[in-house]
Amino acid sequence: MSERLVDDALQAEDNLLELSLRPQTLSQYIGQTKVKDQLQIYITAARQREESLDHVLLYGPPGLGKTTLARVIANEMEVDVKSTTGPAIEKPGDLVALLNELSAGDVLFIDEIHRLPRIVEEVLYSAMEDFYVDIMVGQGPTAHAVRFPLPPFTLVGATTRAGMLSKPLRDRFGIVSHLEYYEEKDLEKILMRSASIFNTELVESGAVELARRSRGTPRIANRLLKRVRDYAEVKSNGVVDEACAHEALEMLGVDEAGLDVVDQKLLHAIIDLYHGGPVGLSTLAVNISEETDTVESMYEPYLIQKGFLKRTKMGRVATQKAYDHLGILFVAEKN
Ligand code: ADP
Repeated sequence: MSERLVDDALQAEDNLLELSLRPQTLSQYIGQTKVKDQLQIYITAARQREESLDHVLLYGPPGLGKTTLARVIANEMEVDVKSTTGPAIEKPGDLVALLNELSAGDVLFIDEIHRLPRIVEEVLYSAMEDFYVDIMVGQGPTAHAVRFPLPPFTLVGATTRAGMLSKPLRDRFGIVSHLEYYEEKDLEKILMRSASIFNTELVESGAVELARRSRGTPRIANRLLKRVRDYAEVKSNGVVDEACAHEALEMLGVDEAGLDVVDQKLLHAIIDLYHGGPVGLSTLAVNISEETDTVESMYEPYLIQKGFLKRTKMGRVATQKAYDHLGILFVAEKN
């Protein structure tokens, strides 16, 4: 997969920043009001009853704050959090080892939970529902299940692909929260907060310009801010204003709508090669040299949300808005 500046997957250079930028409490967590309000109620109720919080499933595109929210939940519950990912838990024993380290009330955060192997998922069911796991010991006729009791814990699962979660697993989450792309106003607040952590002077017009091109995604907003800060320090007096943000983003190839070269390539492929579509997902992916899964989970959601692309039964279709945005005249095909 190509490395994109507006890629919403975590990149190595984000790691250091991640620590200082991540909000610690629900009140520091900007936007996502509906999700926050619900969680606030469930957390307060669980704390009043001195019980562990019900299991939470967070879903939505990458970079919207799922990992951050899992940590906020643990912080608000005043418990520890252990983090892992679906593909890292290869066998039931790995899961049992993780569960074994938890104290009562702790949060186990599993990112990309849709990628848990099926045999692990099945062990998770009883762990989530009744706080025990049955592990098979021995082989052949002597094989038998040994039951391990567990402390009550909260599983926070995150996924970009809620549709890929099996029904039995999905049904075991008492709280299911969908994170939405952020409003530009909320991204501006996030940018202002990040700029003050970086000790960078970001004026409001600069924040507006950056927010507009951040694909509704805090991780991208923070990354663009970092790049634009470098530009401002080298090319001018270090202050990020509208003109500076505009020039820097043009230089970086991020257009007015936050689309980068890969997004543009994708739309161009549909328009130039398939007369605007419909074209099948896998054909499209081959044309732009990307994995089908990557196109579907990382590129398309934003293009669809912004109205540049439509998913139809026949395949992907570029909209009139995509033609207008790329400055291509739409000519209806003759039958
Ligand atoms: P995900 O797990 O959904 O991929 P993360 O939780 O890693 O996303 O968030 C990506 C970055 O965006 C983090 O560095 C975090 O600081 C920032 N961020 C996410 N959500 C918020 C928010 N609501 N307020 C402020 N910053 C946020």
